[in-house]
Amino acid sequence: MEDISVEVTDRSKWVKSATGGTTSSQISYYRDQPSTWRRWADTQAMNAWYGYHVGDRVAYLWGAMQDFAVKPSLGMRLRNSMYKRCLMLPSSPLDESILDNYLEKLDRWRPSFIQAYASSLHEFCRHLKARNRCLPYLRGASVTAERLYSHQRKEIEEVLGFKVFDWYGSRELGRVASECENHEGLHINEPSVYVEVEQDPSLPDNCGHLIVTDLWNRATPMIRYRTGDIARLIVGECSCGKALKRIASLEGRLTDTFVLSDGKRVNGLIMAHSVMSNSTEIVERQIIQKTLTNFHVRFVRGPEFTASSLRTFGDSLKRVLNPEISITFEQVSEIPRERSGKIRFVKCEIEDPGGLTPISAGDQREEFHV
Ligand SMILES: [Zn+2]
Repeated sequence: MEDISVEVTDRSKWVKSATGGTTSSQISYYRDQPSTWRRWADTQAMNAWYGYHVGDRVAYLWGAMQDFAVKPSLGMRLRNSMYKRCLMLPSSPLDESILDNYLEKLDRWRPSFIQAYASSLHEFCRHLKARNRCLPYLRGASVTAERLYSHQRKEIEEVLGFKVFDWYGSRELGRVASECENHEGLHINEPSVYVEVEQDPSLPDNCGHLIVTDLWNRATPMIRYRTGDIARLIVGECSCGKALKRIASLEGRLTDTFVLSDGKRVNGLIMAHSVMSNSTEIVERQIIQKTLTNFHVRFVRGPEFTASSLRTFGDSLKRVLNPEISITFEQVSEIPRERSGKIRFVKCEIEDPGGLTPISAGDQREEFHV
């Protein structure tokens, strides 16, 4: 990536980051300062559609573990509470005691908004329902990172008592599209990104591959960046009157949730960052849950693969999930990709895990909810 970076902005203010890793391997890139400012402004502008204003308290029920410090410094904690006014709650693993603990924290912090991974907010709302609780201080909720299924939206809105907003973006592209107050698809952030949907006759319902060009970042230009997600352009204007084009919510954001024998659930996104996410020993991997205790790992060898690589991988997987699980390995030349074009990094194949239904196992036959 450094090779294609261009020397047109103040390099000393570039920020190095990496793609989210849900496509199995991470890629480094740089972001220049003007585009960083622009991204912040885009986010605030689109968040205002659901009533958020700078300074409002926000709780994040969040799965991207790189956004959490292992041991946050005092300065970081002060910055989060006083300046950013956010409360960070890891969304994986989640179980009843963790959710009760989060509920206590929310009651103390009393945020106005919650921003969450779709399946995590759904699980949290189910927990609220079971506890017969509501959150009277909450005024808005937004979800991202995973597809928001219509049944999840319905249950979330029933419990919270207001509409939930879906948005799409990524670490490398920033805010790409957001729902407006009329919830008729996601408006594209056209002043900052150019979005194309490349038609593919093998896909149903005029769906195509989502390709995005970042119009601001000159440090690592993202030109016709293939997101690996599947989308559909919506024809016609939104009833809200905004002129920005729209896409239907995306089908490509699928990550399953593992269900463990002790009832804990571990969202797949956490695995992308905690299990050899940036390894030159195993360059691609797919973890499939077969039963509550049996996992199967497909992997592609990297240049530094050694006899101990699989043991190291297995140990880190057991640390995150459960030391008692059994793991089988299968070396492949390529991980088969899903219809979205992405590698599905984790898959839960349990039909009925002891009465527990995987939260985001994904009914892939479900229609777009626009
Ligand atoms: Zn609209």
